[in-house]
Amino acid sequence: MRWQQQKIDDDAALVPIKGLIRSVRPPEFEGVTFHEVLCKSALNKVPGQSSMPFAWTVNPTRGCLHRCVYCFARKTHEYLDLNAGRDFDTQIVVKTNIAEVLRAELARPSWRHEHVALGTNSDPYMRAEGRYQLMPGIIGALADSGTPFSILTKGPLLKRDLPLLAEAPVPVEVGVSLAFADDDLQQSVEPGTPRPAARLALIRSIAEAGLDCTVLAMPVLPWLTDSVEHLDELFAGIKAAGARWVSAGALHLRPGAREWFLAWLRREHPALLPRYLELYGRGAYAPKDYREWLGARVDHLRRRHGFVRPTGVAAQEDRWQRSPAQQAPMPATPSATQPALF
Ligand code: SF4
Repeated sequence: MRWQQQKIDDDAALVPIKGLIRSVRPPEFEGVTFHEVLCKSALNKVPGQSSMPFAWTVNPTRGCLHRCVYCFARKTHEYLDLNAGRDFDTQIVVKTNIAEVLRAELARPSWRHEHVALGTNSDPYMRAEGRYQLMPGIIGALADSGTPFSILTKGPLLKRDLPLLAEAPVPVEVGVSLAFADDDLQQSVEPGTPRPAARLALIRSIAEAGLDCTVLAMPVLPWLTDSVEHLDELFAGIKAAGARWVSAGALHLRPGAREWFLAWLRREHPALLPRYLELYGRGAYAPKDYREWLGARVDHLRRRHGFVRPTGVAAQEDRWQRSPAQQAPMPATPSATQPALF
């Protein structure tokens, strides 16, 4: 890795990355290096052949301090000649001028005001946003230009921007990612993220601000979080917090995420490794039988907790489920070790 051969001082580094201003290691972010760059473009066009349900994304950062072991945006760090594991967690590229560049791009006569998705490749409200404060400018640029947008996050820092989001004169979709009710398991799988209670408080704040909040409960982990008891507790908390809808689906192991997730599983739950290798032996998705089994369980629990599918949620749900950093709900053969459906 060529970056590993660079000596990084406290406030400067010779990192070979386009637009680099400097690299810094703030003491309050132990073990993390921020590579501050001036970007030339802010809007990313999703390739035409992509199945993604959005045409444009904006990512103020690359790499993510949330360190989810299942994140399949990890692979994108390899384009920077960094690895998809520890480097994705600790080498964070920050586009410091993104709001100005975005505003200029949205002002072009050719801009067609298509939906823009945020939170697809890194979390825009990870802790770094407290330091760089890029999101208010991004929201302002989108709102002022009349561009509808969506934000998916695990970060309670979004509360800071609720007044901006509530007042935006464009359609705004706000989603919170929360798939665990068990604190210890959640901290093991997503060691850099706020705990479930903090995210439930975020959902409550979004609802109190008058915005609909959809929760993405992904990934559901076979044999770890797919029990009725776990999902029931999770959905109960999400409903009580005021979320309008919850969608859930099973773990999805694409290359890039697969290696890191299986390494975690081998370390933390070695007895489950053979079962996972069998379940995901033929590809990134769990088998169709499991997906249908889990889908039926999720439907049943949604009804039990009084979730009523809002109009238009299909496109929104699809948008988030298929974000590169998230888990598409797909799942498998109920084995003898799985509990009965309800
Ligand atoms: S899944 Fe989302 S929050 Fe987690 S590391 Fe990936 S981008 Fe960050």
